[in-house]
Amino acid sequence: MRKKIVAGNWKMNNDLAQTELLLKDLKKQIIPEDVEVIIAPPFTNLHHSFVSLRDHPIGVAAQNMHQSNEGAFTGEISAAMLKSVGVESVILGHSERRAYFKEDDALLAEKVNTALEHELDVIFCIGEELEDRKKDGHFNVIKTQLENGLFHISENNWKQVVIAYEPVWAIGTGETASPEQVQEMHEYIRRMIAENCGSELAESVSVLYGGSVKPENAGEIFSQKDVDGGLIGGASLDAESFMAIVNAFP
Ligand code: PGA
Repeated sequence: MRKKIVAGNWKMNNDLAQTELLLKDLKKQIIPEDVEVIIAPPFTNLHHSFVSLRDHPIGVAAQNMHQSNEGAFTGEISAAMLKSVGVESVILGHSERRAYFKEDDALLAEKVNTALEHELDVIFCIGEELEDRKKDGHFNVIKTQLENGLFHISENNWKQVVIAYEPVWAIGTGETASPEQVQEMHEYIRRMIAENCGSELAESVSVLYGGSVKPENAGEIFSQKDVDGGLIGGASLDAESFMAIVNAFP
């Protein structure tokens, strides 16, 4: 049985007061026992979120981290720092990091290694751009991102990894990939894992979908065979919408 997961990527939203309000609303909600719910607030709100959620099943993730352990990297945050404030997992390879901060597969492979060494779980994001899909190159893009960023890890480390498929053209655009497009790609991702790392492992890895998931479309997406949940941006900023998505599994 694969883990069902819904993670909220708050991106660069919510100051401390807004975070307190959203946490208060989230804590009023009942979390289904069979769904792992995670929020990824900005760095400044991680510790507060961890403390506030201490007796609550919602987990706390970071949106990024630096690949080095420590040192002269002004403005950066290390894996150990994240661990020290209660963070359990980290989103790596989000398309906004890839596009705006020029994070490439080689750098992401380093970040993955550092996170795993520090026993942080990794939500590894992959996704093609609209141009890739128009040229029918989307499968190749996904294959390359997986091979160069993730497939080097040891079998044991896969327990700490979740994959999030997020087509760039569907992020924050209101345009969702169709359930068929999602299932087709998730099946492909699982096949790639099977070919590279074995079929048993491929069956055990949770693969999430991200890109304009809303309460209205989550149910159909989550009912696809190879979809194990979602990485939610915009809709995770409102407790009711986020929880409606958490409760959208068939
Ligand atoms: P969105 O973002 O739900 O706002 O499209 C998803 C993401 O970027 O993780």
